[in-house]
Amino acid sequence: MKQTHLVTGRFAPSPSGRMHLGNIYAAFMSWLSARRQGGRWILRIEDLDPQRSKPEYARLIEDDLRWLGLDWDEGGIADGYCQSLRGGLYADALARLEELGLVYACRCTRADIMATQAPHQSDGRVIYAGTCRPHNCPPYARPEGPGARRLYVPYGESVDFTDRNFGRQHVVLAAECGDFIVRRADGAWAYQLAVVVDDALMGVTEVVRGADLLLSTAQQIYLYRLLGLTPPDWAHLPLITNEAGVRLSKRDASLSMEAIRASGATPDEVIGRVAALAGLIPEPAPVSLHSLV
Ligand code: GLU
Repeated sequence: MKQTHLVTGRFAPSPSGRMHLGNIYAAFMSWLSARRQGGRWILRIEDLDPQRSKPEYARLIEDDLRWLGLDWDEGGIADGYCQSLRGGLYADALARLEELGLVYACRCTRADIMATQAPHQSDGRVIYAGTCRPHNCPPYARPEGPGARRLYVPYGESVDFTDRNFGRQHVVLAAECGDFIVRRADGAWAYQLAVVVDDALMGVTEVVRGADLLLSTAQQIYLYRLLGLTPPDWAHLPLITNEAGVRLSKRDASLSMEAIRASGATPDEVIGRVAALAGLIPEPAPVSLHSLV
């Protein structure tokens, strides 16, 4: 049920590996923001990708969060807040976009897309050249047959929003991402669509997450607009890097929760590390969640 009167934050991990310090930082900052405002906090397992998601990682994510004391009021495996169980809701949203005549079938492979794209974006982003886009203007007929489902982005469509940390953002979607996938050719739902449907239906009022999703936010706001939904507030967190200045990933074994817990660290020590990264305390030192709230 939507409870827009209450601040509602959420943590939405993908169970494709054990969490690392960067994930804990995002979870902690989102939890703390909700708790400081007396709000609720939801855990949603984003297991959309059948090849990469593993139920045992979802269980370990819950175990690590509980160990740290990052408690959720709603969601998680027991409540069935797993995207793999929510396909019907994403199908309804896709049907709505199809009714608007903004969706077409795309049969391009990744190799096709790379071949039509020059020069490549420096960050590896792929801007779709429109190869499969119908020649007529929208509204398009409901797409049939195999292939991914791609959402039309009008030339010049821009999104403006204010991020709590990064300030005002102005994104011209056609230039930054182009028409984007809402359902993959293998039938898997795209993150952008699922996250909007879920955050809206779960009554999320603020999204606190890593800055790697800042551009995705513009795509998500475009979807909120088309679906007639109200977007949450956004707070993107500067990405944490390792000593070499490289963004943490699930491959940094020493910073995984497995290594951290095996080292004998206490929950308060781990919270102290992320609290120091956030500048809440001057140096990493054991600190209780309670005292930070
Ligand atoms: N599931 C995404 C991830 O783990 C995060 C999605 C989000 O916070 O919007 O990277």
